[in-house]
This record gives sequence, structure tokens and C-alpha cells, in this order.
Amino acid sequence: MRSPSSSSPSSPVGTTRVCAVIGDPVVHSLSPILHNAAFRAQELDWVYVAFSVASGSGQAAVDAMRTLGLMGVSVTMPHKQAVARFADEASDDVIALGAGNTLRWVGDRIRAETTDGAGCVAALREAGVDTTGKRVMVIGAGGAGRAVIQAVAREGPREVVIVNRSLDRANAALNVSGGVGRVGSESDADTCDIIINATPLGMGFDESNADIPGPNVIAVDPLRLGPGQVVNDLVYVPLVTPLMAAAEIRGARVIGGLGMLLHQAALQFTWWTGIPAPLEVMRSALDTELSRRNA
Ligand code: NAP
Repeated sequence: MRSPSSSSPSSPVGTTRVCAVIGDPVVHSLSPILHNAAFRAQELDWVYVAFSVASGSGQAAVDAMRTLGLMGVSVTMPHKQAVARFADEASDDVIALGAGNTLRWVGDRIRAETTDGAGCVAALREAGVDTTGKRVMVIGAGGAGRAVIQAVAREGPREVVIVNRSLDRANAALNVSGGVGRVGSESDADTCDIIINATPLGMGFDESNADIPGPNVIAVDPLRLGPGQVVNDLVYVPLVTPLMAAAEIRGARVIGGLGMLLHQAALQFTWWTGIPAPLEVMRSALDTELSRRNA
């Protein structure tokens, strides 16, 4: 809903609509930066805040969305499974994944959705990477990994090779791979066109204060990577992960995780407000904030 004035109020007032992210931890979440920039750009009298919600309180947070009249909620760990269970309804994707990352209103019902997989595919597309007809390796079969497997499988890939530390979770992820999935191992990497890291390996790696990156932070042996391949790391802290740095040296094309973050948020924005997301404004706000944090 647009504010009655031509510009949004400088601070929230009684009619201001509220969206939120719930999780633990959420203090460093970039979602408030993305969504508040978008609300301002579209002159919406809306505000987006972060609520730290402890593990086990996911159902209470869904109830709070109703009680407080929140217009939309982003959901991060550890509540992704709880919202799939306790929302009034859930999309087919959320039911298949057993987890959601978004709550929105459909009439007077709260619906759990997922935007992670679509966000990843949109980011790859924006980077000019088409997964159709390609052999795609997804390393990691947790929440993000399964969502990516599900979304990529719909794009008509030749095969989705699922690699995960624990084999039972890799096998379980076959259920969302639309019949094009196969459980593989790291040694399949040299035959894959696109390799997506959906594990936290490399997260928080500090190049200036660490030993040479080893298998403890790199999800796949870089010697298996080379020209003609695309390596997409969903990790975005640091912006250039050890995997990306190593893959680039080997001649592969590298794509970081910020694109997925941006596109999954854009989809949420549109669901909540009913209007297109101002993607470039959100991208620029993200860049500015990351520059500030890295200064
Ligand atoms: P998750 O549900 O906890 O899953 C973690 C996955 O990583 C599991 O498959 C786990 O394997 C694997 N893993 C964890 N530690 C490992 C290790 N030391 N060695 C090998 N494998 C390991 O987490 P998630 O929500 O899927 O998130 C995964 C990553 O994606 C995180 O770094 C997150 O920041 C990133 N992410 C990025 C975006 C974005 O917008 N760019 C969105 C969502 C997530 P097991 O099954 O064997 O435990």
C-alpha cells in the first residue's frame, strides 16, 4: 500500500506497515538493508525489522505475525522447518522440502513459501548461466542445497549430481530432484558444467589471518575444476571465498552468493507488496552496506 503522501515518512508512524526477519542469530542479517531500501524506493510506508527468535519459538513467531499484523516475514535458521509446519498452509515446494523461508498472507491465511531455489536460478540466469541441458553438481543437501536442487531440476538439466557429507541426506534429497538427480561424489566434479556449493565451507574465512585454504574450507578439490566450468558459491561472507579464488586460478568462471540473496529477497518483496521489486536499488543498497562493513 502506498503512503498517502508523495514520499514515505522519515520514521514509522501509526499506519506504518511492518515486515520482519526471524531467526537466531539475525543481528548481522542483510535483509533489513535490502527491504528497507526497496520500501523507500517505492515510496511505501513500510518498515522491515529483525527479531531474534530463539530455537523452539517458531510457532509463537507465526502466531505473532497474525497478532501483530506483520505484512510479511523472512525466516532463517533455526525456524525454517517450524514455519513449514505451523503456517496455515504451505506451498507444494515447502511441503516437499519440509522447510520455508518466507511467510506471506493469502487472504486471511498465513502461507509458508520458499524463495531460495528460485533466487539461485534467477541469479545464475542474470549472470548468463543457463542450467538447461547441463550437468549440475550441488554440494550440500541441507536447507539451501535441497531448495537449489529442487529449482535447478525444473530447468531441464542433463543431470543434478548431489554430493553431501552424510549419505543419508544426499539420498533424501533425491526426492526433490525431479527424477534427474543422482547421488555422486566430489570426483564427479570434473565432468560437471556447473558446481554449486551449498555448504557453509569457507564461510567467515579471513584471508589475512589464516593458513593456506585447505579441504576444511573448500568444498571440492580445485584440481577438478577448470576452464568451461561455472562455480557458484552460495556463501557470501567473504565475498570471494577460498573456493572461488581457487576455481578462478584454475580458469573456471566464478559467481558468489550475493545474487541469490538479492533475488530471493526481491521475490519476497513482490509477494508482500504486490509490486515489482526495485532490483537495482536493492543491489546498490547491498553493495553500500557491504562496503561499509568491510571498511
Ligand atoms: P544447513 O541446512 O545447515 O546445511 C548445511 C549443509 O552443509 C549440509 O549439507 C551439511 O552436510 C553440509 N556441511 C556442513 N558442514 C560441513 C563440513 N564441515 N563439511 C562438509 N559438509 C558440511 O545450512 P543451509 O541453510 O543449507 O546453508 C548452507 C550454506 O548456504 C550456508 O553457508 C549459507 O550461508 C548459504 N546460504 C546462502 C544463501 C544466499 O542467499 N546466498 C541462502 C541460503 C543459504 P550434512 O548433511 O552432512 O550435515
